[in-house]
Amino acid sequence: MAKIPKPNELVIDHTLPKTGWMDTPVDFRPGTWCYPGKAKNLEVLGLPNPREWSPTDEDWKLPENWKEILLEGLRERLDKFRSLKIFMDICVRCGACADKCHFFIGTGDPKNMPVLRAELLRSVYRNDFTTAGKILGKFAGARELTKDVVKEWFYYFFQCTECRRCSLFCPYGIDTAEITIIGRELLNLVGCNIDWVVGPAANCFMNGNHLGIQPHAFKDMIEFFVDEIEALNGIRIEPTFNRKGAEILFITPSGDVFADPGTYTLMGYLMLFHEIGLDYTWSTYASEGGNFGFFTSHETMKKLNAKMYAEAKRLGVKWILGGECGHMWRVVNQYMDTMNGPADFLEQPVSPITGTRFDNARSTKMVHLVEFTADLIKNGKLKLDPSRNDHQIVTYHDSCNPARGMGFMDEPRYVIENVCNNFYEMPPNTIREQTFCCGSGSGLNTDEFLETRMRGGLPRANAVKYVHDKHGVNMLSTICAIDRAVLTASMDYWVPGVGVTGVHELVANALVMEGETERTTDLRGEPLAGMEDSDNEDV
Ligand code: SF4
Ligand code: SF4
Repeated sequence: MAKIPKPNELVIDHTLPKTGWMDTPVDFRPGTWCYPGKAKNLEVLGLPNPREWSPTDEDWKLPENWKEILLEGLRERLDKFRSLKIFMDICVRCGACADKCHFFIGTGDPKNMPVLRAELLRSVYRNDFTTAGKILGKFAGARELTKDVVKEWFYYFFQCTECRRCSLFCPYGIDTAEITIIGRELLNLVGCNIDWVVGPAANCFMNGNHLGIQPHAFKDMIEFFVDEIEALNGIRIEPTFNRKGAEILFITPSGDVFADPGTYTLMGYLMLFHEIGLDYTWSTYASEGGNFGFFTSHETMKKLNAKMYAEAKRLGVKWILGGECGHMWRVVNQYMDTMNGPADFLEQPVSPITGTRFDNARSTKMVHLVEFTADLIKNGKLKLDPSRNDHQIVTYHDSCNPARGMGFMDEPRYVIENVCNNFYEMPPNTIREQTFCCGSGSGLNTDEFLETRMRGGLPRANAVKYVHDKHGVNMLSTICAIDRAVLTASMDYWVPGVGVTGVHELVANALVMEGETERTTDLRGEPLAGMEDSDNEDV
């Protein structure tokens, strides 16, 4: 893990560089770049130019014809994606996006301004694909593609979490996340990717989930949580795995299965499904809702997305229910239909408990658990005791992909307000569409990158600190597995004393289950309000 200064020592340097941006080389300082993709992972995914290398090497061992590959790759994408061509052409450099990026706010590095991040690619586009650029060169903002430009792309396209906050403020709707996605895809063509993206993607390709959990271990972990629940409230849950003919296939990010605090969210899923008698199955093969292929290339994203639907077909379920995940949702709703869909072999999802037909999932056949639960609550199907969350003072972080990407903002709040008595919103310009990124999404949640992660996490943490100081908020809830991991580190660094939870952990705390023994603690074993003096030794 890279060493990182203490929060009060982290300087945000706004000194202007001595040279113009085209003449300022990248400084690969420890803590600010990610380890490159390992050859074995590139080989698993069939990606080009597998080799061992480091960004700090002078020679990146690019293919001999690297320039031709990149320019041809850019030409293909300009032909294929009309949005890219438009984004390359229409920026007026008004600067409205400049201070909206969490990485610019946290680093002060001008190349982290969205306008300049896009310019890294746009300058090459101008040079090779526009008449003005060919004739006027630098005067028209054009520059030649060199190996140093490739290094700059690598550094800054992996300092963008594809969160899209900048696009919200651009009068033309230029989406720098889309430019980053293409930038990463181009880098992929010459074998320049990061291991925290291709490693999980390769694991998913081989084992069905990012963490590389084998089917038996996946099942063992869930059974471990079954035991934990029984110890908590005396109820024995019996989940099924790979069961053909179940009505619903449930898929959640593997982070919920193996990493705290997501594991408590997973216990919440198990308890809720048991209580409503849901006819569902887990799959030990499609055991991942997330899709790190999304952070690599459209092709890899397509491959990883396909397995969820292939498994739904194999098991003969009617539809898919998705756990608390952010980018799974963007992939399913914005890309799945034209990549692998439509999933006509499945049925339009209908809640077996309330009869609600999810028209929004007519094509994808996949429902997000938070909207499913909101519907259960709205129809009075759950017995809830919100006072069981009274030891928590909660706020909510909108994850970029479901919120800004999908408009999925009211359902989580509706659920939280029904299961918690103490809920406070962060300032309006930091939530809902304008939410600040967790700071390490899109495959950047890696320890060697810790300094930039904490810098990128500053705007979100600052808003949490505001409600922590003003209202005593001690719990940050979110519906994304990456956020649960990322924000835990970010809170420990910037706002100690604030925990991180999934929404279904809060639901399960409040859920009054039929036949349960008296609960004295929450899912984490923390005493409920008023139960601080109870003897919890046997619980
Ligand atoms: S998409 Fe997000 S991380 Fe990327 S430039 Fe825009 S605001 Fe910054
Ligand atoms: S807000 Fe839009 S038009 Fe203005 S500089 Fe940023 S990307 Fe360009």
